[in-house]
Amino acid sequence: MTAQLIDGNALSRQLRADVTARVTALKAHGITPGLAVILVGENAASQVYVRNKVKACEDTGMHSVLERWPATLTEADLLARVEALNLDASIHGILVQLPLPAHIDAQKVIEAISPAKDVDGFHIASAGALMTGMPGFWPCTPYGCMKMLESIGYELKGKHAVVIGRSNIVGKPMALMLLQQNATVTICHSGTPDLKAMTLQADVVVAAVGKLNVLTADMVKPGAVVIDVGMNRNDEGKLCGDVDFDGVKQVAGYITPVPGGVGPMTITMLMVNTLESAERLLG
Ligand code: NAP
Repeated sequence: MTAQLIDGNALSRQLRADVTARVTALKAHGITPGLAVILVGENAASQVYVRNKVKACEDTGMHSVLERWPATLTEADLLARVEALNLDASIHGILVQLPLPAHIDAQKVIEAISPAKDVDGFHIASAGALMTGMPGFWPCTPYGCMKMLESIGYELKGKHAVVIGRSNIVGKPMALMLLQQNATVTICHSGTPDLKAMTLQADVVVAAVGKLNVLTADMVKPGAVVIDVGMNRNDEGKLCGDVDFDGVKQVAGYITPVPGGVGPMTITMLMVNTLESAERLLG
């Protein structure tokens, strides 16, 4: 069996076309959705991520502001910038690119963002809203994974989903979203004694670990849906996920590639969240 590919680039193009149309409609009401991205320091990967986010804003007709600050920026100054953007009516979403330099308390900065503009969905109010099923912004990466499942018409009710990884930005919100769609959910982590015993029971596996080959073909139930969130480099420096793609695609029913899978979906859902933040102004 060869798994069908869930193409994150193609799905992103579709969703971004819808975002562009909705941005145009909002502009007719005098509102241009605006995203502010704050980058502190020179982290090479972060520079690429923020460039891609700003470009996605441009492509969809949104307004964007990129603030670059040196790694020496104080926590107090960063908090002041966040507060200024909270009050800026042209900005509907605020994103502080992580990681931040060690002298800045990242959680404190995230909590300073107004929940109404927390388009990354990392604020404790957004996490609480997700947990209780209330309206709020969903973190973009797991939200993108849910859209990928939706795109193949996958019915989660009655299915067993196994999430590998329990970070606050991917694993935990992923598990809550799957639960909200009535899947039976198992969360695995570095202390899980027999990962293979768990994944072999899974109709859906989401791998969000950050290690090569965490999921191999012998760990996958035939026909399962496999979503690979991981971003790693192999020995040749090539971008790879957590899943042994060539092996697992022989067993799975559906699989997401890396690159071209969850990565572009993350940015797409950031555009969706920013747009929806602006649309809320119209009620
Ligand atoms: P993280 O905070 O480092 O969390 C990794 C999780 O994996 C932890 O919960 C850890 O368990 C668990 N883990 C580690 N080794 C394991 C093992 N051998 N078996 C089972 N679980 C294990 O990472 P993250 O921020 O969630 O990101 C995960 C991956 O996704 C990274 O590669 C990251 O680059 C990628 N990512 C991609 C996107 C995208 O847009 N494509 C977005 C975000 C993240 P403990 O909690 O017990 O330590």
